[in-house]
Amino acid sequence: MKIRQVPVDGYEQVVVAEDESSGLHAIVAIHDTSLGPALGGLRFWDYQSEQEALTDVLRLAQGMTYKSACADTGLGGGKAVIIGDQETDKTEARFRAMGRFIDSFEGRYITAEDVGIGIRELEWLVQETRYVTGLSRQSGSSGNPSPFTARGLIRGLFACTEEKFGTSHLDRLHYAVQGLGQVGGDVVRCLSMLGATVTVSDISDERCQEFVPLPGVEVVPCDDIYAVDCDVFMPCALGGVLNEKTIPMLKAQIVAGCANNQLLRDEHSRELHERGILYAPDFIINAGGIINVSVEVRPEGYNERTALRKIENIYNGLREVFDTARRENLTPAEAADRVAEQRLMDARKRNGNPLMDATSKS
Ligand code: NAD
Repeated sequence: MKIRQVPVDGYEQVVVAEDESSGLHAIVAIHDTSLGPALGGLRFWDYQSEQEALTDVLRLAQGMTYKSACADTGLGGGKAVIIGDQETDKTEARFRAMGRFIDSFEGRYITAEDVGIGIRELEWLVQETRYVTGLSRQSGSSGNPSPFTARGLIRGLFACTEEKFGTSHLDRLHYAVQGLGQVGGDVVRCLSMLGATVTVSDISDERCQEFVPLPGVEVVPCDDIYAVDCDVFMPCALGGVLNEKTIPMLKAQIVAGCANNQLLRDEHSRELHERGILYAPDFIINAGGIINVSVEVRPEGYNERTALRKIENIYNGLREVFDTARRENLTPAEAADRVAEQRLMDARKRNGNPLMDATSKS
């Protein structure tokens, strides 16, 4: 296997692997291990070039550092990508080679599921490395993270409604949920059970039909979800949905969803703020899944009660962000970055700066 180190400013280590016999072409990016080993999913995607894959993995790895810092998981941030065709290139040989590549970091990078990866692929990896999380509960692993992400999202809603409306009566509000997938679906079922009014959309008609019988639930076409006259808009499908076209349509006073990278660009957090819309930073409110996984990598092993207790803290994390934003006249997204950066700085003061160590060794 050919290994190439790629020096990138602000990243501890970025490595490209090319393996002729299996066809593997992959990148591992370790952004920051000040708070612990770098944990982040492995993505399999049909990137058009190595440069495109590199841009993606760098952005995702940094996001994981910030997410874990705010969620207090004791982990750092990293990510991995495999460049390949979804239909033809998901072979056991490629994933076994990827497992050996991950193993070469000796635990500084720990992987998990991401786009294009399922249990089958994780099981190929685990034949070559133990640094894999999110396998089945039967194997002692933490299993599917989605119900934990949904739980964290509901917990976070309390912090949002208290901040904006001074109430924790989630049942008295109207929600517009975009995306009825694993997380969005669970959240809709929970809100419906509480007695709330919930307007939903999904590109899958079949998915929508499943939710029609639930009390308080109404389905609208996908394009209409932004303009629903509701209290809370919940993006639970795609990234980039908060942008110059959609923000002016919003009637909600809170945006709180699980989708990653909801803001198309950083400045869109300011636009929401100026319109008086409270935005729950995505990487804080959707951290339930990573918190669950972080419990799996502790020496004492996975324990669901510990995971649930830590997920409760998403409420406190959001309160801290909203307080910082108010005090320092920042948007919540800016305040969340500030909180993450402060935690990284504190850790570096305590334990030294791994980025400096990595630079001095290279
Ligand atoms: P999923 O694939 O199960 O669900 C996504 C749903 O969105 C699907 O039902 C899909 O049909 C629908 N959808 C796609 N485009 C849409 C559109 N334009 N309008 C309406 N619906 C649309 O995914 P998930 O696991 O529920 O995750 C949802 C989002 O949350 C993703 O952005 C994911 O990256 C993020 N996230 C998930 C987790 C987790 O634990 N699953 C954790 C953190 C972040």
